[in-house]
Amino acid sequence: MLVLVINCGSSSVKYNLIETETEQDVCKGMIERIGAVTSIIKHQPFDSKEIKDTKSITNHSEALQEIMQFLLNPESGVVKSPSDIKSVGHRVVHGGEMFKDSVLIDEKVLEAIEQAIDLAPLHNPPNLKGIQAAKQHLPDVPHVAVFDTAFHHSLPARAYLYGIPNRFYRRYKIRKYGFHGTSHYFVSRQYYKLIDKPVKDTKVITCHLGNGASLTAIDGGKSVETSMGFTPLSGIVMGTRCGDIDPSILFYLVEKEELPLSNLHALLNRHSGLLGLSGYAADMRDLITEADNGDRRCQQAIDVFCYKIKQHIGSYTAVMNGCDAVLFTAGIGENSALIRSKSVENLDYLGIKLDEKKNEQVKPGEITKISSDDSKIEVYVVPTNEELVIAIDAAKIAQASAQSPWI
Ligand code: ADP
Repeated sequence: MLVLVINCGSSSVKYNLIETETEQDVCKGMIERIGAVTSIIKHQPFDSKEIKDTKSITNHSEALQEIMQFLLNPESGVVKSPSDIKSVGHRVVHGGEMFKDSVLIDEKVLEAIEQAIDLAPLHNPPNLKGIQAAKQHLPDVPHVAVFDTAFHHSLPARAYLYGIPNRFYRRYKIRKYGFHGTSHYFVSRQYYKLIDKPVKDTKVITCHLGNGASLTAIDGGKSVETSMGFTPLSGIVMGTRCGDIDPSILFYLVEKEELPLSNLHALLNRHSGLLGLSGYAADMRDLITEADNGDRRCQQAIDVFCYKIKQHIGSYTAVMNGCDAVLFTAGIGENSALIRSKSVENLDYLGIKLDEKKNEQVKPGEITKISSDDSKIEVYVVPTNEELVIAIDAAKIAQASAQSPWI
């Protein structure tokens, strides 16, 4: 089935057109800087060169129109008619407590996503705009919401409750939700295909290390602990997000710097993490280059990042009472031998031993075992594919809704 996958940010739309039977991208692309004077448009058909353009695109609806025009273009396009697209899968960051699985989008679902705006003010509004725009341009196709939070619905209460008065959970649903669910799910399933053990007997730690980063403990195929929390701000240090900090720091800073609350939000989300620590960059490639040139703060930022990963690996091994494999994925996890190596160094007590040669020789896009043969815990690099998870769910739900008018 041909499925269009949409991932909307506040000023960007990423899309993938995926044939779910072959699991192949037919075409992908993105429009960035929506609302700016010049928006950047990129389309990458599967079998030809990337097409780049710039023009002014003022909102998400225009962005979707631009994408549809490209897909349907008689010369460079990839589909003949909008009806060739059988389903649209939307990434939605926060599903709150309501959504344990992907769902067909109807008015009630739209309302519930809107209600979850409170929980994800940065992410859910553009996700909703994307849904509305795509429905406008593809009105006769089932639209499906796939939530970043859904995979973590299996967290036990002892993992998702915070140590604050319980009425705040009951009243406002303040709890750990966890994010990057589609990636943690996909990567763990790729690992299960490689092994001979029943999934119910497996204990896996997935490390999604991109600009946003999170780790998840997956016991018997289910997420039982994860590093992001109520919002994607917590957990390990990220590109620009601070990760876990002592909440008292906030009161202290408000007093010392006379910061308004709105500035604190920006400080912790956009000016902290690797960027804040290094004072130089959020991008790991830039940090590694500068650290190699001797910059001490860039070296420290890398040290903190890897130390947090190691701490979580140790803690999740305790949470699951064991671990069969650690899986690295996303931009940093898939591409940086240095970060992988530093994140699991001196873990011989747990029984993790890397084969540094294999670690250095990982090829982009390939699943690779990088632990040594005598390592008690296996370590793999597993490329993620969140869009494929979204496409497969959207195809399944579209098929089911075609068969049953009640879904
Ligand atoms: P997101 O999807 O969260 O924006 P990505 O998964 O694309 O992020 O990861 C982006 C991160 O991956 C950046 O910090 C980038 O520097 C890092 N990255 C990509 N390639 C490499 C590499 N070869 N070495 C180190 N880091 C890399």
